[in-house]
Amino acid sequence: MKPSFFEFTLDELKGHLQSLGKEGFRSQQLFRWVYQMRVSDFSQMTNLSKDFRRELPEMLDLSVPRVLTEAKSLDGTRKFLFDVGEGQSVESVLIPSKDRLTLCVSSEVGCNMACKFCYTAKQKLKRRLSAGEIVGQFLAVADRLPEGQRITNIVFMGMGEPLDNPDAVFKSVEILHSPWGVGFSKRKVTVSTSGIVPLIPRVTEAGVRLAVSLNGVNDDVRSRIMPINKRWPIAELMKACRQHTEESGDRVTFEYVLLKDVTDSLEDARALYRLTRSVPCKINIIPFNEHPNSGFHRPSEARIERFQEELMRLGAHVLRRKTMGRDIYAACGQLTTAANPAPIAL
Ligand code: SAH
Repeated sequence: MKPSFFEFTLDELKGHLQSLGKEGFRSQQLFRWVYQMRVSDFSQMTNLSKDFRRELPEMLDLSVPRVLTEAKSLDGTRKFLFDVGEGQSVESVLIPSKDRLTLCVSSEVGCNMACKFCYTAKQKLKRRLSAGEIVGQFLAVADRLPEGQRITNIVFMGMGEPLDNPDAVFKSVEILHSPWGVGFSKRKVTVSTSGIVPLIPRVTEAGVRLAVSLNGVNDDVRSRIMPINKRWPIAELMKACRQHTEESGDRVTFEYVLLKDVTDSLEDARALYRLTRSVPCKINIIPFNEHPNSGFHRPSEARIERFQEELMRLGAHVLRRKTMGRDIYAACGQLTTAANPAPIAL
């Protein structure tokens, strides 16, 4: 089978072309056509010889994952379902806000982390995506934007655990960031992890921003809702986060899902403050988004506000993540391709 263009770095493609008896410097020309000019038809690449242009379709695949369905929320959020072959699919979510257009990409089909409150977790890991399939989600969505609109932020917060698929994730970051690739600023890329501690240094090394799904303030609660905590408990996680901030000079984002009667008490807010205050960070509270048979509930507005206000009163830098796309199952923790639940009213 011919390889996908989007799996290659500039140097790798050069080597690949040379192994086929072609000139290595053609790699640069191809990268310019594909990423800078977004030309997806070899026959239009006019600085290449006609013969070479005719051969290229046999050598490289320029297609990106096909969009199977697209859903649009009342709030403007768009969710794309991508075919990644063999009957498998992943979702990406495009989230507009005042001055941003954020793309949330998937890194795996399903997920093995088994977080109790997450819908994706119900679909066990089927397959890890390749770097090209991650880059492909970005390109496919970018190509569908109207003139003048562009994606400003990329978050690895879709389906899957990015640090369970680090090689592909960091290679996709390289392709998205490099001047020969998409040229996207690393400061606008965030990798979110459920807490695979030994791989956090790779986030630091890659120069992207780190988000950590904390969700519990002590090992008891966190292990109950996030089994990964049994392997890497909170103390180790916090140590790795602190190290990241020291080496990167950047803040960590702690995501904290508010589950009614599980993580939403005032005591929890205070413990969350104590736990995170020694790490340069911001806290992103995410009121639980409902999905079928989860067994968890979203706290009342009053309780959500009380939680946030307590953190603010203590001096934490805390933001509430606005719920976007809930009507089309595009909100945090609602992504799945196992079944297609009926749309819910906002
Ligand atoms: N596996 C990575 C990337 C997914 S990010 C990670 O865990 O960080 C998805 C975010 O949504 C995580 O912070 C997770 O804690 C949160 N989340 C999962 N299910 C949710 C739900 N039902 N409601 C609200 N947030 C949820």
